[in-house]
Amino acid sequence: MLEFLTEYTYALAPVFGLLAALMGSAVNGAKVWDEWLCGLIAAEIGVFAVVGIAVGIGEGVDAPEARAVALIVFASATLVGMPITRILDAADHWIASLFSFPFKWVQSPVFTTVGGLLTIGWAIAGRASFRRGCFFLKVSSGSSQGALTLGAVVYAYGGCFEKDGRVKDDLAQHEAYHSRQVTAFHEIGFYIAYLLVGMPWGQAQGGVPMSTTSGGCGNPFEKTARTKNHKFTPKPAHEC
Ligand SMILES: [Zn+2]
Repeated sequence: MLEFLTEYTYALAPVFGLLAALMGSAVNGAKVWDEWLCGLIAAEIGVFAVVGIAVGIGEGVDAPEARAVALIVFASATLVGMPITRILDAADHWIASLFSFPFKWVQSPVFTTVGGLLTIGWAIAGRASFRRGCFFLKVSSGSSQGALTLGAVVYAYGGCFEKDGRVKDDLAQHEAYHSRQVTAFHEIGFYIAYLLVGMPWGQAQGGVPMSTTSGGCGNPFEKTARTKNHKFTPKPAHEC
């Protein structure tokens, strides 16, 4: 199987990208076609980035089958990890989160490793919350809202937290949705597509590069995510 995957890596990569996109959008419950399309772009960037890195490593250590291993890891994380994290995150229990987190980590080795190290310091300071398979780090005091998800670690303003220090659940569900987009599309695919496609799209569609309007137009990657903590109906691109 490794030999086969090594020989046909470049033919199989776009197929795995397509499967990752379908699995990611279906399991997360993406509601509009432009989000499905952006997911496909993200997944294809993700799978080719992973394969490209593995080709480089494989040449360095004289192990051409590295790219086959990369394909297997990508496919396992997205096709198996995606539905598992969805179920575990829905349980809203720290034990379930404990099992969800590693799947997200596999697809986000840079952001989640860096964020995981930062989490240790934040937890010691009593400013971290663990919910729906993500660590939430309180980066400011006060009541302003707003959060940034990088892998399975979320950097959130003080207004995102309850008085007892726990992150608010509707916000947690929104950001956990993004963490699962990363699980499906890989961090390289998701963040490059978010920056190069999602943000210009959001700007053009509603003047909101990192969000949506109250009418449901904007950045496709935010359209379903924002339904977790805002009352609005996302609109597909052709209705905007
Ligand atoms: Zn969001």
